[in-house]
Amino acid sequence: MKNKSFLFMAAMILLFAACKNTKKSATGDNPFLSDYTTPFQVPPFDKIDTSHYMPAFMEGMKQHNAEIDAIVNNAEEPTFDNTILKLDKSGKMLTKVSNVFFNLTGANKNERMQAIEMEISPILSKHSDEIGMNEKLFKRIKTIYDKRMDMKLDPQQIRVVEKYYKDFERTGANLPKDKQEELKKINSELTVEQLNFSNNLLVENKDFKLVIDKKEDLAGLPQSSIDAAATTAKEAKMDGKWMFTLDKSSWIPFLQYSDKRDLREKIYRAWFMRCNNGNKSDNNEIIKKLVKLRLQKAQLLGFKYFAAYVIDNNMAKTPEAVDAFLSNLWKATLLKAKDEVKEMQKIIDKEGGKFKLQSWDWWYYAEKVRKEKYDMEESVMKPYFSLSNVRDGMFHVANKLYGITFEMKTDLPVYYPGVETFEVKEADGKHLGILYFDYYPRDSKRGGAWCTSFQNAGWDNGKKVDPIVSICCNFTKPNGDIPALLNWDETTTFFHEFGHGLHGLFSEGKYNRTAGNVPQDYVEMPSQIMENWASEPEVLRFYAKHYKTAEVIPEALIEKIQKSGQFNQGFETGEYIAASLLDMAFHTVTDLKDINVQEFEKQYMTKIGIIPEFIPRYRSTYFSHIWDGGYWAGYYVYLWAAVLDADAFNAFKSSGDIYNKDLAAKLRNYCLQNVGEDEGMVQYKKFRGQEPSLEPLLKKRGLK
Ligand SMILES: [Zn+2]
Repeated sequence: MKNKSFLFMAAMILLFAACKNTKKSATGDNPFLSDYTTPFQVPPFDKIDTSHYMPAFMEGMKQHNAEIDAIVNNAEEPTFDNTILKLDKSGKMLTKVSNVFFNLTGANKNERMQAIEMEISPILSKHSDEIGMNEKLFKRIKTIYDKRMDMKLDPQQIRVVEKYYKDFERTGANLPKDKQEELKKINSELTVEQLNFSNNLLVENKDFKLVIDKKEDLAGLPQSSIDAAATTAKEAKMDGKWMFTLDKSSWIPFLQYSDKRDLREKIYRAWFMRCNNGNKSDNNEIIKKLVKLRLQKAQLLGFKYFAAYVIDNNMAKTPEAVDAFLSNLWKATLLKAKDEVKEMQKIIDKEGGKFKLQSWDWWYYAEKVRKEKYDMEESVMKPYFSLSNVRDGMFHVANKLYGITFEMKTDLPVYYPGVETFEVKEADGKHLGILYFDYYPRDSKRGGAWCTSFQNAGWDNGKKVDPIVSICCNFTKPNGDIPALLNWDETTTFFHEFGHGLHGLFSEGKYNRTAGNVPQDYVEMPSQIMENWASEPEVLRFYAKHYKTAEVIPEALIEKIQKSGQFNQGFETGEYIAASLLDMAFHTVTDLKDINVQEFEKQYMTKIGIIPEFIPRYRSTYFSHIWDGGYWAGYYVYLWAAVLDADAFNAFKSSGDIYNKDLAAKLRNYCLQNVGEDEGMVQYKKFRGQEPSLEPLLKKRGLK
């Protein structure tokens, strides 16, 4: 439910194909071209040079092409083994280089990487299309699909056949030639426009700086925020000044605490006007193109609009189901938000403010309400949440639930100084996988927090392949002698991404197509469920210890954390639903005529009756999730999964043991390890014994 995006590379299904213009790779020392010789076969970051990527991509595509050729040119009758299995295991090298390259373009991008990304992305998209529209290959798959019930296949094999058949159908394999060409063109234009969107946003995220040179303009700000701003200014060679940026760890505390209303407005405006300033990095025209291209794509594939195409593959199945779900919750949430406005306006009036609450005031007055009613002041809280304590807390929970252990490694290559690595072992000491942590913001890293993997778990030629998972965040940095101290949002974000990490580590399954590959509206369930443990008193008493004195967090604070789950939910759930509905609105457009993005957003927000005191969590021009982040027609998935996670955690709570081993074993088996074995809802019911109920979520957020 927070700004957490998720790039699970399991989703990078091996649908890449041929490249004919392969450059000769002159690099004998290209680490991608042979097996890694590092411990646990982690990527040899110390030996990877930017110049290695392009030849490796080309070679990867060439090899993949040869593998696909071998399948389609096989004179034997198509069988599961000679077609489906071969396809499932193809493209290994391409996946290997993609997993490193695309993770590092998120975590550690430079100009050369950006140039390669621009060059390779449309080529990869074309390859993916070519294999997806490979007539001979589809014919073989169809032959198997038609006879799948008579081929003595086991249920898993049947499921894999069905998945591949549907994948091909969705990429246009059933379309006539001319339509296929049209689709390829659309896909490659989409790739380019998405990249343009993302690059513009990167520019505008970095461009804005609020530089303060008068001490009085820091009024109200906590010392930690002031110190961080001084460090940022110093790094920009502005010693003695204070610099605030559009990193969340910088602007959110500013909005929460700054007594300077005009400066709050200034930084918030910069935030919500990103890429909407009519300059070189404006995203309005790009969005217009994306909406149109996506609609064209959906229509070519026989769907009424793009959301129908996307959600057809999800647990929710139809946009109508999503719309109904969101609209129901929106009503309850809006009522709560209006109450919250009244409460804050009262404070303004009492203080003699003589103004009406505006969107840039919300954080500031919400903080006052919080102080008055929950008194969970960040400056008091943060010392109990040092990054290493929170991390040990997560490890402890995972150990209590699943028996797994974590051991820090110092001999593995990393792609940036300070990135940490851990070996994860099963209860019996057997190796499970490797986990990377990359904690802090820097210019080469995109914003937010995410989990990804350098290698997915699976099977290769009868041998188990162990997962190599990576978690990237943008947490508050250490400052001098003070270690990194996380606020509550960062703490739960850490648990959240760790939940994705566990999903990646536990994933199993013989086939790449189904192992760890789950519908998008299920993906956030393994992550969000972990957030529940973060706030449990029993867990807090274990990990929330003062970084200086090791004093355990006081019971009074624990109680406040417990209550705080309901604080400000009209706003938090509300701004989230508004963004989700906006996403659905753009992707249920049925008319190909040009839209005016700003007008569209404005009219839609009026239609759903949003109150002027807040705006959607993401406005169109910086809504990265839905334009370049893979969450198109899918921003709703966090809330959908929230219903599941609240219901699932409720199972532990009502059993009387939050570490209930039987439930944990079932959760691991059906919902994490083998979740791909069947449809999401079927697997969930195997764990829970019943369908999820909406009640635990409404109760948890105080919306009822
Ligand atoms: Zn997530």
